[in-house]
Amino acid sequence: MLAGIDLGTTFSAVAAIDGKAGLPKIIPNREGSNITPSVIQFTDEGPVFGSEAKDAFDAGETNCVSTFKRSMGEDKPYCSINGKDYTAEDLSALLLKRLKEDAEAAAGESIEEAVITVPAYFYSKEREATISAARRAGLKVRKIINEPTAAAIAYGLNHWRTNARILVYDLGGGTFDVTLVEMKNESELNTISTEGDHYLGGQDWDKRLGTFLVQRIREETGEDPGKNQNTLIQITRLAENCKKQLSQKQEAKVPVSLPNFGHYIIEVKREEFNSLTADLLDKTGVLCEAVLRQAGVRWTDITDILLVGGSTRMPQVPEYLFKLSGKKPISHVNPDEAVALGAAVQTTLKDPVYTTLDKPDLEKAKGRSGLNLSAPAGQEKKISNLMGIRVSDVTPHALGIIAVSEKGDAYINETIIPANYPIPVKSARAFRFYTGSSGDNELEVYVLQGDKRPLECKIPCKYVVSGIRRGKGGKTTLRIQYSYNGNGVINVQARQEDDAVDLPIRKEPVPDDMSKYGLPPEQKEFMAEKTSVFLALDVSGSMSGKPLISAKDAMCSFVEQMDMSVTRIGIIAVSDQSRVVLSLCSDARRCCKAIRDIECGETGFGNSADPFDDILKELGHEEGRRFAIVLADGVWSHQTRAVRAAKACHKAEIETAAIGFGDADKQFLRDISSSDANALKVSQSELSKTFGKIAQTMGSSNSGKFGKKTDEINAETWETPEL
Ligand code: AMP
Repeated sequence: MLAGIDLGTTFSAVAAIDGKAGLPKIIPNREGSNITPSVIQFTDEGPVFGSEAKDAFDAGETNCVSTFKRSMGEDKPYCSINGKDYTAEDLSALLLKRLKEDAEAAAGESIEEAVITVPAYFYSKEREATISAARRAGLKVRKIINEPTAAAIAYGLNHWRTNARILVYDLGGGTFDVTLVEMKNESELNTISTEGDHYLGGQDWDKRLGTFLVQRIREETGEDPGKNQNTLIQITRLAENCKKQLSQKQEAKVPVSLPNFGHYIIEVKREEFNSLTADLLDKTGVLCEAVLRQAGVRWTDITDILLVGGSTRMPQVPEYLFKLSGKKPISHVNPDEAVALGAAVQTTLKDPVYTTLDKPDLEKAKGRSGLNLSAPAGQEKKISNLMGIRVSDVTPHALGIIAVSEKGDAYINETIIPANYPIPVKSARAFRFYTGSSGDNELEVYVLQGDKRPLECKIPCKYVVSGIRRGKGGKTTLRIQYSYNGNGVINVQARQEDDAVDLPIRKEPVPDDMSKYGLPPEQKEFMAEKTSVFLALDVSGSMSGKPLISAKDAMCSFVEQMDMSVTRIGIIAVSDQSRVVLSLCSDARRCCKAIRDIECGETGFGNSADPFDDILKELGHEEGRRFAIVLADGVWSHQTRAVRAAKACHKAEIETAAIGFGDADKQFLRDISSSDANALKVSQSELSKTFGKIAQTMGSSNSGKFGKKTDEINAETWETPEL
């Protein structure tokens, strides 16, 4: 049997497709109830579930736990009972096991696979924890789907209308989700946008009422219930009860036993309760408006508002939504059962395939609206064939990475996949990566969920890519693919250069101190890879006098502008011969002295040699960034040979710039440069300025090209493994 499971904050339910009718049906638990409280009591005989656990919890027994779903995905324990720690995932695994056992016993067959629902607003980590809990309960997870989407599926079975736009307002015990769903064509259900608040639900209404009751008791009896822990627990339980009474009638009576006062009854009016909690409702209203804004629609464009979740039974909810939208919300679905029923339908549906989001399409995607507003909603009808339904969902959270701003002055959240983009989706980026000298073959990747600044977003974990092979000069290109799978879970994969095999990636907890990403990035961090530069100076006869003095001045000022803690500079003199007058050296003074000592004609007066063989010999095996700057005036005798030797340097990934003045041939400068942008024909008076600019761009860029950012290139995507 395939089952749909609503693992709720306060109640859970299981459903499956009824073979005969072909429609979803709730499977009752061993007590014959359609819903099971999401409460566990730990006794000496083992965990207890169902109404017994709920009664014990309501009576204030301390060995009970509830609402643990709110802490799903957290690494720290949710509770400690009888000296044993339990995380929310541990507790969910126990509850799911019980739900599975009950459903199997009632249906008389085993559950092979299950679709489990989660709040739309769940982040990747919470979804992964849900999957892990299910597996530990012995369930094979077919899919994780969003609760509002599941509710819309259940609603759609009996109320299908082409082009209908349904706003699903889901207020449960611990979470609030609002989702805009479109019924397109005959049987296509598309989620357009979704928003939510993880920390807003019926419990917050209970707390408000609890605080109010405490105040009233103080005012009216002079007794302070805050002094007695048992009375406080009793009041918290009574608050929920009172809230439920107020859903039925205008006034509720709350019986409280006070230690020094005896039995006491407080009367609460629905009006009072409504005004106490008005701001909570407003919070949901703000999120509804956000969903409409994201989809580019107004209230008048909404066909139906569908109420889901136990807390929508409070009359204040439909009243508020009517005031906000001018529409009477509908509650055609049983809020306790609709989600499980929709999940059961999902067990029969096919998964959509991955779409690829390329960087150039990102801006368009951010402003997308999948709604077809021109056509009005069609006639209501029942769906006769479940197999024909196609459902697509979205991710509520943008996926981004920590990057450095264009100016290099701040860490930013660079969006890779925008919020409310249909899942499953993948996008890949490639960038140059410099491996360090020894054993440094790992790269850390921080993925962000949300649109805010890096530290205001959820960071699911640290992904560490390992096994990176070193390219020439320690430089290599990595392709990193980010994806949301159909469950809304993030997957990060990495490949090197043109490899077809994924590099190993391990997940590590996010470090406690991430504060560095809230500060401006240190320039050094991006210059950290070693830089080696060879300066080759033409010392042929035509350079004698003023040209040589200007060239030496320009080269010395270049040396002075470089950060010599990460840079080494070597000098070559070239004319009829090429001679290394200084090997790579990080002492700026020695570099300048070597430049000043160069004499015209010391390697001959002609132009028959070129410096490229020496450059390749000196730089070919160096790690980090490698540059050559060749300064020439006039035309060299053996240009073809020089170009061939220069190309060998380019092939070895030595970025080469050629600066020419005087009679230097522009085409030749281009031929010996590694890119046209690096061929610079200038006047003698501009030499210092030109070298200064090169020094600046080399210092501010962590890339190979002078002044051109190449750290991020679009990359092809590849297949993504499921779950
Ligand atoms: P759910 O998470 O969807 O099961 O919703 C559970 C929440 O619904 C809890 O906060 C309950 O207190 C609340 N709830 C259930 N029934 C009612 C009711 N009749 N009136 C008000 N709130 C209710």
